[in-house]
Amino acid sequence: MTTDREQIEFDVLFVGGGPANLAGAIHLMQLAKRENLNLEVALIEKGAEVGSHALSGAVLNPIALKELMSGYREAGCPIEKDVRGETLCFLTETSHYSLPLVPKYMRNKGFHIISLSRFVRWLAAVAEDLGVNVFPGFAGKEVLYGPDDKTVIGIRTGDKGVGKDGKPKSNFEPGVDITAKVTVLGEGAKGALLREMATKLNIFAGKVPQTFETGIKEVIQLPEKNYFGDSAVNNIHTLGYPLGLVTHGGGFIYEMKDNRLALGLLVGLGYQDPMLDLYEEFMRFKRHPFVRHIIAEGRVMEQGARVTGNGGYYTMPRLAVDGAVFVGASASMLNAPALKGIHTSMKSGMLAAEAILEAFSKGSFTQEVLARYHDLFENSWLKKELYVGRNFAQAVSRKGPVKFVHLGVQYLTGGRGLFDRMSIEKDSETLRPLKHGDLEASGKKYGSKDYDDVLFVDKLTGVYLSKTQHREDQPCHLIVHDLDLCVNECFETYQSPCTRFCPGNVYEIELEEKTREKKLKLNPSNCLHCKTCEIKDPYGNITWTCPEGGDGPSYAVL
Ligand SMILES: Cc1cc2nc3c(=O)[nH]c(=O)nc-3n(C[C@H](O)[C@H](O)[C@H](O)COP(=O)(O)OP(=O)(O)OC[C@H]3O[C@@H](n4cnc5c(N)ncnc54)[C@H](O)[C@@H]3O)c2cc1C
Repeated sequence: MTTDREQIEFDVLFVGGGPANLAGAIHLMQLAKRENLNLEVALIEKGAEVGSHALSGAVLNPIALKELMSGYREAGCPIEKDVRGETLCFLTETSHYSLPLVPKYMRNKGFHIISLSRFVRWLAAVAEDLGVNVFPGFAGKEVLYGPDDKTVIGIRTGDKGVGKDGKPKSNFEPGVDITAKVTVLGEGAKGALLREMATKLNIFAGKVPQTFETGIKEVIQLPEKNYFGDSAVNNIHTLGYPLGLVTHGGGFIYEMKDNRLALGLLVGLGYQDPMLDLYEEFMRFKRHPFVRHIIAEGRVMEQGARVTGNGGYYTMPRLAVDGAVFVGASASMLNAPALKGIHTSMKSGMLAAEAILEAFSKGSFTQEVLARYHDLFENSWLKKELYVGRNFAQAVSRKGPVKFVHLGVQYLTGGRGLFDRMSIEKDSETLRPLKHGDLEASGKKYGSKDYDDVLFVDKLTGVYLSKTQHREDQPCHLIVHDLDLCVNECFETYQSPCTRFCPGNVYEIELEEKTREKKLKLNPSNCLHCKTCEIKDPYGNITWTCPEGGDGPSYAVL
């Protein structure tokens, strides 16, 4: 079928409404105004609104924000709380111990606790005031290339109103071809367009494989009299229980305004146990006596999940190709030891903006010219910050006490450690096959499902609280390439881990009533867009694609 598509032309197109692209777009407009240059700039976001899909801890190191807008408080930047004190706790099954020393990179005093969702909404309003055309509800579905088949010339947005059978319905709206001299890809971790470009343009050649963590997060409404009222500490990180020391990850609890708190658990996706259930680990974290005490008498207001790429410096792609640059988490700009990617993403967007402005002054948008972004990055505080964490993900992926030896030596040697450019396994390759006793052990571990629908909610209520919606009659955006593999080899070897690593209950194994044969049931409407399935599936059998623009979660305070 050939479709007539509207074509819209801009000078610069930002794909993704996260902190990286919004800071980039704002900075570009500021610089262009200073140079008296009139640029037509657009930003598209797949969420129904900018902020609908934004989920983060989120402690903001304000360094990049100060550079972008020194008077950000006066300009109305929505800050929940300032960090007034912090603690790093080691949790055993029943107790907690505050560690006497918080590593430098985890010291947050003076930083801001924000809701990323609210923060990016505010940045989007600033960008619009500066003249950026912000289009929420539009998912970039395909990269457009020039006649040479390698210069990026823009993005095609997804069609709307296509039925499950792939045929247009009466309300069909074809996607739009948005062309630009420069396309800035800021899709966040595990971008679908980035995946396509990586295959075509080989931008990750020679790089260490990217690794990820999945975070499940809630905002909880507390009673007026609560833990934080008397506490000098409002920024808590935890290690140990429930994950132990083999699986990488940890918890966080941050005070928000209006007697609310943000709480979450991040789990490194390099875990080995095929029976590990991400959602139930999060519940175990919440049920720990130390955490339970802090959240006592609370009510879950919102829940969501998202992956973050923690691979760091050695996993960064080539930052520029002909006609396009990569920013933020798409370009692996996360300080993994500190688990902070907001300020680093913002700075990467701002550096990209500076390079783009120079490209306009030269009238050329080739890879060589846009590679100025790479030079600016190499000479920035951002590079210094990321370089210190260059072997961190590799170290924490090691099992047993050797992990701490690596971390200790890295801490003392500015990140170099015992071996520089350490290797790491891909997250899809770390699961071990099911062994005798696994099912019983998991039954015991996850047995006590004491949900109360208020403070401890089950997975489906969690999806409800993420306000996730997808139009039902559309082609499934989760492509499972081989359904037989799921119910045969994957079930026998790993007991269908997708049913446990997906925090949205998208994947279920059912028994056909008549034949009693196993069948994979997909609930794509529940998808939280976290992308864990594409990363952790041991056979690479799942591909996540963007559903219709505007679908997905509707986060307001996460
Ligand atoms: C649980 C958790 C806790 C974290 N805690 C912290 C913290 O405390 N402090 C900190 O600094 N960092 C933290 N981070 C990391 C931080 O949130 C990210 O590094 C940062 O948000 C990355 O910014 P970004 O703009 O690159 O991408 P994102 O914030 O992911 O934004 C990308 C946007 O692009 C949109 N998009 C994606 N694909 C498309 C497409 N094809 N078309 C249109 N739109 C698209 C998405 O919907 C999204 O809105 C945390 C992350 C997680 C998951």
